[in-house]
Amino acid sequence: ALYQPPDITKPCYVRVNTLKLDVDSALHELGKQFKVQKDDMIPHLLVLPPHTDLHNHSLVLNGSIFVQGKASSMVAAVLDPKPGWEVLDACSAPGNKTVHLAALMKGKGKIIACELNKDRAKRLEDTVRLSGAANIEVLHGDFLNIDPKGPFSKVGNIIYCSLTMRDPSTWHIMCSYLRANTLPQVSAILLDPSCSGSGTAAQRLDHLLPSRTTDFVDTERLNKLAAFQKKALAHALSFPAVKRIVYSTCSVNQIENEDVVNSVLPLATSNGFQLATPFPQWQRRGLPVFEGSEHLLRTDPVEDKEGFFIALFVKRGSEKNSEE
Ligand code: SAM
Repeated sequence: ALYQPPDITKPCYVRVNTLKLDVDSALHELGKQFKVQKDDMIPHLLVLPPHTDLHNHSLVLNGSIFVQGKASSMVAAVLDPKPGWEVLDACSAPGNKTVHLAALMKGKGKIIACELNKDRAKRLEDTVRLSGAANIEVLHGDFLNIDPKGPFSKVGNIIYCSLTMRDPSTWHIMCSYLRANTLPQVSAILLDPSCSGSGTAAQRLDHLLPSRTTDFVDTERLNKLAAFQKKALAHALSFPAVKRIVYSTCSVNQIENEDVVNSVLPLATSNGFQLATPFPQWQRRGLPVFEGSEHLLRTDPVEDKEGFFIALFVKRGSEKNSEE
């Protein structure tokens, strides 16, 4: 497809971090400087005029609001974790969705934020600190090594634990305790794995960089990414107590999206999961490449500013008990 430049008339979005500030106060504060309103679909998301630059705004610097696009903000909202749940964010750095989960859970329950890359795990820690969330453990390790039926201890180190940071002197004791005792009673998994990023503006502007060609598609890289994405999604589907799984990418490629979901459907069905329809009022659905793809959600890289893909798996019979 021909490159289309991002539509600069599209609005900007910020997500209110309700752990630190309520939506009305954010509206009031931002309303002093900007025309601002609530998004009609995503709770806690505010819409501002195009080009609004908030990067140095005090509410951003103190973690009261996060500059986060609408499509990206849909992901944790679709998982819809309840306060008190144990949630696994499988591939979590830099942590925008992790701290969104914490806000949705009102800081109650536990989030295990897994990240393979050490430097990115540090960025994740910074995001968690900024958010003020007190229920997140950062686990530096490979999601694929988490035994769905065993303790997390074999995976890697819990390198940051906001539950205990208030008293650094007991931090190491608490983390040893967690390593030994944390059992995966995980109710929900957010899986936002490494992807090509082909739905993001930065990727779409790649061709403007010197020595890149516009029509270059790295098939080998896409195949490798898709293989990992399938493995990771199949792994998420094998956690016994999990009721909800969200799979998301910021890619527009079928091979990373519909094809990944389609490939795990037999496993999903035999493990008691079915596809559910996130935001049924949203028009753009999955590409019609298999029966059931209408459940999937896509956003358009130009019309919606970012090209995201979201699939929601729900354990059959768990819908009625979603408050537990
Ligand atoms: N969800 C994040 C957010 O919204 O801020 C973005 C996640 S990014 C798309 C994917 C992340 O997964 C990268 O930071 C990458 O290092 C990490 N990752 C890749 N393979 C992983 C694995 N096997 N286990 C855990 N994390 C992994």
